[in-house]
Amino acid sequence: MIRVFPLQGRAILSTSTYVEWGGFRFLLDVGPGSVSEMLRRNLSPTKLRAVLISHSHIDHFWDLVPLLWIRRLWGQRRALTIVCPKADLELFEWCAEVSGAPELAEVRPIAPGDECALSGLKARAFEVDHERGRMALGYSIEDPGRVRLRAEALRGMGVPESEWGRLARMERVRIGGADLDPGDFVYLKKFKLVYSGDTRRCDSLLEAARGADLLIAESTYLNEAFRDLADQRGHMTVGDAVGIALEAGAANLLLTHISMRHTEEEVRREAEGIASATPLRIFVGSSEFEL
Ligand SMILES: [Zn+2]
Ligand SMILES: [Zn+2]
Repeated sequence: MIRVFPLQGRAILSTSTYVEWGGFRFLLDVGPGSVSEMLRRNLSPTKLRAVLISHSHIDHFWDLVPLLWIRRLWGQRRALTIVCPKADLELFEWCAEVSGAPELAEVRPIAPGDECALSGLKARAFEVDHERGRMALGYSIEDPGRVRLRAEALRGMGVPESEWGRLARMERVRIGGADLDPGDFVYLKKFKLVYSGDTRRCDSLLEAARGADLLIAESTYLNEAFRDLADQRGHMTVGDAVGIALEAGAANLLLTHISMRHTEEEVRREAEGIASATPLRIFVGSSEFEL
């Protein structure tokens, strides 16, 4: 089960999502105000194990220094893993330095296409299309998966439920004189979370988002009336984000990085209008949810 706490959905205030995945807690970006928002909502900064940073615009990393500082102040001696674009290694080493305890930060630079292990999770970085000359990453994060059974097929073949546990343990089961190969009935279901960072609509995001259980996508602008602005500034509209989620077959979509000129209600209405006849679940705003 994963729990998702959008710390703030508005672009210029803070861009940050706090995720609890099993016992592993991490942040996707850490914009200004993230730390106070965490404290207000009783989300422990000291229990965080990692921060994944998409790019070096200040609305995505400015609270990294107070985060490291408060962890030190509160006695957390375990280093926080900071995954950051390779091109900005110096900047994030500087953040660790000015926090006063660089040894409590483990800065891990990552390039597009690279993977890194985070406890039991695997994160892969991919390049998105945001601003010329600035490396901007999205992240695709997966768990190792859980064994699931093809229940329909088993019922169809009349396999008694008392035998399902053996199949799940990959043991052969004999039914009606025939050996059942567990490989035919067992599959691995991984949970996949994809975060866009800041980007225009781009193929790398669409590819990464294929089959995502949760896509966290920036949707800075409301609709096509803002197309020129979106293209100029390297952002998506709500329609871009919902379109990618639908094309990629994502199950859930969290819209973030919404311009201050739009209300959450407007964004929700726009998104739900586009996705109305589909099973896509849409989340807008800062309310937490579980999947
Ligand atoms: Zn940006
Ligand atoms: Zn931004």
